[in-house]
Amino acid sequence: MHTARRGTVFFGRKLSELSDDELAAPSLLPGWTRAHVVAHVGYNARALARLVQWANTGLETPMYPSWQARNEEIDYGATLPPSALRNLYEDSAIHLDGKWRDTPQEAGVQEVKTAQGRTVPASETVWMRTREVWIHAVDLDNGASFADMPADVLERLLADITGAWHNRGDDKDLRLEVLGSAGVTQLGDTAAGDPIIVTGTLPDIAAWAAGRSTHGITSNRPDTPQAPRWI
Ligand code: ZN
Repeated sequence: MHTARRGTVFFGRKLSELSDDELAAPSLLPGWTRAHVVAHVGYNARALARLVQWANTGLETPMYPSWQARNEEIDYGATLPPSALRNLYEDSAIHLDGKWRDTPQEAGVQEVKTAQGRTVPASETVWMRTREVWIHAVDLDNGASFADMPADVLERLLADITGAWHNRGDDKDLRLEVLGSAGVTQLGDTAAGDPIIVTGTLPDIAAWAAGRSTHGITSNRPDTPQAPRWI
């Protein structure tokens, strides 16, 4: 819960540093302005609150009616006046926080379904939100980077991403080497004979794996490979 709240504060700060005009500029996400990112993060909080609601009532309330509805809502949100967009972000974050606070511990184990169709305990919404606010703070393209994220967030994020690759078989012949103070951690296809090796610090590897940046990345191949798709 703590890193989710810290991430929300961090996102809010990066957002408040931007002028209204600057919200119309491109974000780091292809095809999305900063306003799209803010709208998405706001609607994401509402969607996660629906999962918490589901866990509390037993009545199925999905994150979004459909993927198309999710995208249309974001496109609509991006057209809101900047003040309304900022309110959406703040109100939705407060609403989600209240939902968590009012949820008894035993409801946290109730199973709910994510927008990707994964079945998870409702308590997973805390991590889902943590991930969203930290990564999308970077996507605002306002000076934040993965190096701003707490190490435990980076580690869990990297485990999520490499786990998703592994489940799809996308990590074949791809090895990640994370340089840390305690040595090198290997992830990915650690059994491969002649793998493509991608090396960097934890923030740089996590940013690369999330498809955000190649900063600080070295490889045993002439060109730094592109990370496999994550979500
Ligand atoms: Zn997102």
